[in-house]
Amino acid sequence: MILLDGKKTSQDIKQEIAVEVENRKEKGLKIPHLAAVIVGNDGASMTYVNSKVKSCQQIGFNSTLIELPEDTTEEQLLHEIDVLNKDADIDGFIVQLPLPKQIDEQKVLMAVDPDKDVDGFHPVNVGKMTLDLPAFLPATPAGIMELLKRYEIETSGKNAVVIGRSHIVGRPMSILLSQKRKVGNATVTLTHSRTKDLAEVTKCADIIVAAIGVPEFIKADMVKDGVVVIDVGVNQVGMTDEGKRILKGDVEFDTVKEKAAAITPVPGGVGPMTVTMLMANTVQAAERTLNK
Ligand code: NAP
Repeated sequence: MILLDGKKTSQDIKQEIAVEVENRKEKGLKIPHLAAVIVGNDGASMTYVNSKVKSCQQIGFNSTLIELPEDTTEEQLLHEIDVLNKDADIDGFIVQLPLPKQIDEQKVLMAVDPDKDVDGFHPVNVGKMTLDLPAFLPATPAGIMELLKRYEIETSGKNAVVIGRSHIVGRPMSILLSQKRKVGNATVTLTHSRTKDLAEVTKCADIIVAAIGVPEFIKADMVKDGVVVIDVGVNQVGMTDEGKRILKGDVEFDTVKEKAAAITPVPGGVGPMTVTMLMANTVQAAERTLNK
């Protein structure tokens, strides 16, 4: 069984990006600059945003963290986005989700300049991705594709079953796996909570991508021998005595790994790849600015 080590792979990619940034510095080119906007003080969101800012520092990017209070109005946030859209020094930015209830998330995502939308959530980027045109890809699916590529997992002609149809993971994953590309060319089934006899579908899968949000939902009797399993789930199931979060994936790792040819752990699988792909998108954004 191959453990698809997202932590190590993401460190390798970060190292490659750091070298690229260093080369840019030597040539006197612009250093990529990522901004992150967070509204309110939700603990998990703060953790995610801080890890993004920390990654920027590690690889030599410039970063700006904009922290807005919980009672920020939609108008105030849209103004902040307008400022970032117009700021020539900012190559890309993200608005951390979820947003407080007084703010319409869709309106906010639509307001981001697609050329700076390094999260790949703007309809222009989603449309381009769907048509296989150059676009910012959403970080989690892009990270999974990169992991499959670097571990040389064969996807062509394989039966891939994606569980979950969210806009940020499941649906884009199904699109990317079906594309006519080296890592792609899979026959994809996209499943969700209304799928009948899910286990019958997953038992036929050569590749399973689980993005459900239910701890240890996929059990060994739902998969076949030799399956490749990508576990996107991050579910907090408790706290240690030291106050650390205990996390479980959507897959029952200990039993499924006995049947799998390859599997991602949780934590240390898809999670670290997500942040790293955001950095890769920001380099891409800086290059585009240069070529304009
Ligand atoms: P989401 O928006 O809640 O979507 C969950 C999907 O799972 C929905 O499509 C839902 O179906 C489906 N589902 C729920 N129960 C099901 C069941 N019993 N059988 C089949 N399908 C079922 O979740 P998400 O944002 O995609 O996130 C999924 C998980 O990935 C979460 O644990 C999240 O924390 C994690 N995540 C991790 C990363 C990372 O970087 N590692 C990034 C993003 C998300 P319906 O559409 O029918 O409701």
